[in-house]
Amino acid sequence: MKSVNIYTLGCQMNVYDSEQILRLLSSLGYENEEEPENADLIILNTCSIRQKAADKAFSFLGRIKKRKETGAGVVIGVGGCVAQQEGRQILKRAPYVDFVFGTGAIHRLPEIVKRAESGEKLVDIDDNGDIIEPGTNGNLPDTSGSSGFVSIMRGCDNFCTYCIVPFVRGREHSRPAEDIIYEIKRRAKKGMCEVTLLGQNVNSYGSRGGDCDFADLLYMVAEIKDIRRIRFATSHPKDLSDKLINCFSKIDKLCRHFHIPVQSGSNSVLKKMNRKYTREHYLERINSLRKVCPDIELSTDIIAGFPGETESDFYETCDLVEQVGYDSVFAFAYSDRPGTRASSYPMKLSVEEKKKRLNEILNIQNRITRLKNNESLGKKLEILVEKVELKQDKDSCEGVFISGRSFGNRIVHIRENPEKYEKLKAFKGRLVYSEITEALGHSLKGRLA
Ligand code: SF4
Repeated sequence: MKSVNIYTLGCQMNVYDSEQILRLLSSLGYENEEEPENADLIILNTCSIRQKAADKAFSFLGRIKKRKETGAGVVIGVGGCVAQQEGRQILKRAPYVDFVFGTGAIHRLPEIVKRAESGEKLVDIDDNGDIIEPGTNGNLPDTSGSSGFVSIMRGCDNFCTYCIVPFVRGREHSRPAEDIIYEIKRRAKKGMCEVTLLGQNVNSYGSRGGDCDFADLLYMVAEIKDIRRIRFATSHPKDLSDKLINCFSKIDKLCRHFHIPVQSGSNSVLKKMNRKYTREHYLERINSLRKVCPDIELSTDIIAGFPGETESDFYETCDLVEQVGYDSVFAFAYSDRPGTRASSYPMKLSVEEKKKRLNEILNIQNRITRLKNNESLGKKLEILVEKVELKQDKDSCEGVFISGRSFGNRIVHIRENPEKYEKLKAFKGRLVYSEITEALGHSLKGRLA
């Protein structure tokens, strides 16, 4: 057997792609290896959404370069968004890389790897727009467990001015519903009970390709017997229809969580970002969601310090965060992405100012998250167990550490006596109930109920 180490950066779509890469490479006799030091083949699946992620990719390459220098016959490949964007430039910057493959070339990977194994250097970033999802291929082994990602669409047509995705991942294209349902059914038979439907903008599913809209797709997925929980990511506020909102009162399996990126609370910044909605529209959609599903957990993305963001724009964002009362916020300081419109905008903020604004948003949200977590105290939550580990805590006391996710989106940690490990390890991948005993900053503690 040969071994492959896949190092994944970035979003859930990249995690899904890495799973598909592993499935495809199993047809060449590769099996997964956690440590790059021990692998015959190393694949770096990159992300270019923020400068930090792109830098991380090159620093990983710098680390594994040593394996080439020691004469080990390792093969190194680079995929993902940076590969799609930079293509041959990667070979110039890191000549020890053997092959580069773009986001539309994943299904050609077995052929690419075979050629790289025989010493050929190659770059394949051709993307003719046709989605050939390896997930539809039932002849390959499945790698995911009780919770899995399934891609329902690729690309994006929105052209937010700060975002590189439409240039890298191409135009939006939905996968046929039949293929999606086939993949979910196949994986559900092998134990997947929670599915997360993935796309850059899932709520515009069906606009190009696909044969129904996103709400209809959710109803179809809900029909699959062994699927107990349905999640999705990511959505665009401008495409959030009443029909989709109503799914939260009609589909029992639909997890009570909605990630709905706002990016800014200021209309003037939203306009510069080309987000195509206003603060008022966004808040109206949130109210409609809460009317239909009062216990829905909400999360969002925010960019702090967009070019030209004034103090008053920034405080409008802080005010929106308070007003909505999110359960969690993913906030980032703005960073220029080469090739985007925003990168040429004037009035860039200093690094210090962006950091200050970012911290202010995070402080507001940390306070709100703690209050929200306190509301769970004493409640019994259904959790899907993701991890069961027998290990020592920081005081060297042994215990069984269980963690999982609630039907909303809260992480729950449970600690049990080490003697119970043999019985409890079977809980991995199962739905269990936990009574919440303690609220932490970003998670909950509980006991098995
Ligand atoms: S919706 Fe905007 S932020 Fe999201 S992927 Fe498309 S262009 Fe990027």
